[in-house]
Amino acid sequence: MLRFAPWKLTILLCLGMAFHGAVAVAADAATNRFQFRLPMRSAYRVDAADLRQFSTGRDRQWLKAWPESSSTNFVQFGSRVVLQLKSPADLSRLTIGHALTLVRGVTDSIFILQAPDALVAAREAHRLAALPEVAACYPVLRGSGGLHSPYAPQPVASYFNQYQYYLENRNPATGTRWGADINVRSAWPVTRGAGVTVAVCDTGFETNHPDLMTAATGELKYYDELKASIPPGLVEMLQIPGLGPKKIQALQKKLGVDSVEKLEAACKAGKVAELDGFGEKTQTNLLEGIERKRTYASKHLLVQALAAAEPLLESLRTHPDVIRCSTAGSLRRSKEVIGDIDLLASSKNPAAVIEFFAAQPGVLKVIARGETKTSVLVGEGIQCDLRVVSDAEFPYALAYFTGGKEHNIVMRQRAIQRGLRLNEYGLFKSKEETRDPKLLVRCQSEEDIFAELELPYIPPEIREDQGEFAAAQKNALPRLIEWTDLRGALHNHTTWSDGRATLEETAAYMEELGLEYWAITDHSKAAFQANGLDAARVREQIKEIKKLNDQLAARDSEFRLLAGSEVDILKDRLDFDDDLLAELEVVVASLHVPANNEAENTKRLIRAAENSFVHMLGHPTGRLLLEREPYPVNLEAVIDACASTGTWIELNCNPYRFDLDWRMWPYAKSKGVKCVINPDAHRNEHAAFLRLGAGVARKGWLTKADVLNTLPLEKLRKELRRKRDKAAK
Ligand SMILES: [Zn+2]
Ligand SMILES: [Zn+2]
Repeated sequence: MLRFAPWKLTILLCLGMAFHGAVAVAADAATNRFQFRLPMRSAYRVDAADLRQFSTGRDRQWLKAWPESSSTNFVQFGSRVVLQLKSPADLSRLTIGHALTLVRGVTDSIFILQAPDALVAAREAHRLAALPEVAACYPVLRGSGGLHSPYAPQPVASYFNQYQYYLENRNPATGTRWGADINVRSAWPVTRGAGVTVAVCDTGFETNHPDLMTAATGELKYYDELKASIPPGLVEMLQIPGLGPKKIQALQKKLGVDSVEKLEAACKAGKVAELDGFGEKTQTNLLEGIERKRTYASKHLLVQALAAAEPLLESLRTHPDVIRCSTAGSLRRSKEVIGDIDLLASSKNPAAVIEFFAAQPGVLKVIARGETKTSVLVGEGIQCDLRVVSDAEFPYALAYFTGGKEHNIVMRQRAIQRGLRLNEYGLFKSKEETRDPKLLVRCQSEEDIFAELELPYIPPEIREDQGEFAAAQKNALPRLIEWTDLRGALHNHTTWSDGRATLEETAAYMEELGLEYWAITDHSKAAFQANGLDAARVREQIKEIKKLNDQLAARDSEFRLLAGSEVDILKDRLDFDDDLLAELEVVVASLHVPANNEAENTKRLIRAAENSFVHMLGHPTGRLLLEREPYPVNLEAVIDACASTGTWIELNCNPYRFDLDWRMWPYAKSKGVKCVINPDAHRNEHAAFLRLGAGVARKGWLTKADVLNTLPLEKLRKELRRKRDKAAK
C-alpha cells in the first residue's frame, strides 16, 4: 500500500526549518502545573523554586517534575516532545510559529519534536495536549518508571533488561559518568527506540542517545565510528546466554562469525570448541541457547505483556464508544509466560473503537484490521488482538477467551448436559451449535453464565481445569489472596550487596507505599559477584537497621525494616554459622550455585530446611523464565522436608522467576507449607512485583491465610520466632 499525501511534503519542509526562540521562557509560579496526554491524562507539578533555578541554570536539558499521584517519585522532562496526531496533516498548523523543530516522524502520525529546552518542551506539550486534534502529547520523560514495573509507562525492551549492568554511560576517556543507565532505558520506551543506538566495543557496551550525546559533545565522532564498525548481527548475538562482548569479539576475529546463523553453523562444525576459552561444553551450551532463543521468541513475560496491555486498556476505557473492556486469555489468567495479548471490548460502534485502538501510541504496527477485530504489535513485538463485540455478547466472549482450553471443554460439556450450547456468542437453549439470538439464555456477566451451569463464580486465574470444577461443586473454592492483602516482603537487597537503593532510600520508599515492613536480606559472602556481606558487615548492617528503626519509632512511624540475610546454600553447609543467623530476624536460604544432579540439589535444600534458623527457602528451582531452565531437584521431597521442619517456601515474584511455580503450590499447601511472596527487590520499584506475585499465587490456589506476609508485623514476628522456639525446647 503506497500512500503519498501532501502532509509528507509539509514534514519535509518542517525538517529543514527551525523555529527556536519564539516562545518566552520566563518562569513564573503560575505555570507550574502541566497536563499531558500520555496517552492517559497525567498531571505533573514543578516547584516554583525549581522553575526559578531552571531559568537561570546552565543545565536546561531536564526539568524536575512530580506526578500529582506521587510526591516522592519525581520524573524529569526532557527537551523533546512526543506528539501523536489524529491526522498527520495537522502537524504544521499546530507547530509552526512555536519553538518546536521536527526531529523525525516515528510513524504516520507520531512525531518527535525538539524544543530549545525542557521548560519550553513542557509548556508546548501542555499546550498541544489540550488541543482536540491531538491524541497524545508529552515531553520525553526520564525517571523512576521502574525497569520491570507494571506501572512503567511503556514496556522496556528486554534487550536493555538483560544487559542493564553494562548500560552505564561513561566517558571512555575519563571514566566519569554521563548519566545513569535509566536514562537510556526510559528514553527507549518513550521514543520507542527512535534515536537509541547500542554499540559494542571490547570494554563492554556503550550507548548512544541523542539527549545523552548532547552532554557528551566532542565524543560524537567516537560513537559514530564505533557504530559504523559493528555489524548488526553482533548485537543480536548478545542475546545468546553465555556470550559477552569479549567472546563475541573472539568469534568474529578468529572465525569470522558475525551473526547468530553463522554462530550456529560454526558450533555445528565443531569449530567453536577448538577456540581458546570456549571448549566442548561452551559450544553445546551455545547451541542450546540458540535453540531455546528460537522457542522463546514467540513467548513473553507476564510483566511485559501487562505493561503493554494496561495503558491500551486504560485508553480504551476513556473512549466514549466503549461500554466495557477487559483483558482476556492467559494474561487475565495471570500465566507467568504469555503468547499473545487478548483484549476484549463491547461497543455499538466497533469501527470507531478499532480505529482509535490502532492509532494508540503503544501500537507499533497493525498486522490485520477488520470490522470488529484487529491484530497489532505492541511492546517488544508482542501480538495483541482486540475483539469488539456487542455488550450482550460481552460476558460470553469474555468467558470464552479467558478460560484455558481444558477448562472451556468442561464448561461446554456442562452446558450440553443441561440441554444448552455454550460458545463465544452466547449460551443457547439448543441441542445444535447455534448463534440464534431467539434461543439465547440472557447473562449480564460471567457470574450469570457460571450460575446457569450451576457453578459459583470461578476466578480467572484458576480456570485451568486443575480441580476448580470439583471444588466449585462442593462449594469449596478458596477465597484467593488479593495483592492488597500483602503488608511487606521478606527478601530484598540494597546497596550493601547488589541492590540499587540504600537502606534509607528503601525505608522511605516502602513506608511511602504504605507497607508495614521490609526485610533487608543482602547476599552472604559466598556470592562475591553480588558483593555479598561477610559476618562483620552483616553485624554492621544490623546496627544501621536498628538505628533507622529507632528513628522511625521516634517519629511515630509504624513502618519497620527487618534485618536479614539471603544466605547461600553451599555444598556442605550454609555460608554463615548459626551464631550469626540467630542474630538475624529473617533468614532466606538460597541455592545460587547448584549441582548438576537432582539428588545433590535436593539434599542441599533439605539440609538448609533442617537448619532451625532458616525461615524460608528462596527461589527453590533457580529458573529464569525464557532464559534458564530450573536446576534438577526433587521438589516433592523438598516440600515434605519444609513441612516437617516448619520451613516456609518463597514465591519469588521477580517476573523472571515466579519460583516456586504455581503448579506446585497446591501440593505444598496440602502439606501445610506456608508461602511468602517476595519481590527479591534489587530496586525500589521492584516492590511492584508484589502485585504480579499475588496474581501467580492466586493461580496456585493460595489464600491470604497461606501467605505469611499478609500478617501484620507483630503477628509476623511471632511466626518468625516459631521454628526457633521449637528447636530451643
Ligand atoms: Zn537469590
Ligand atoms: Zn535475592
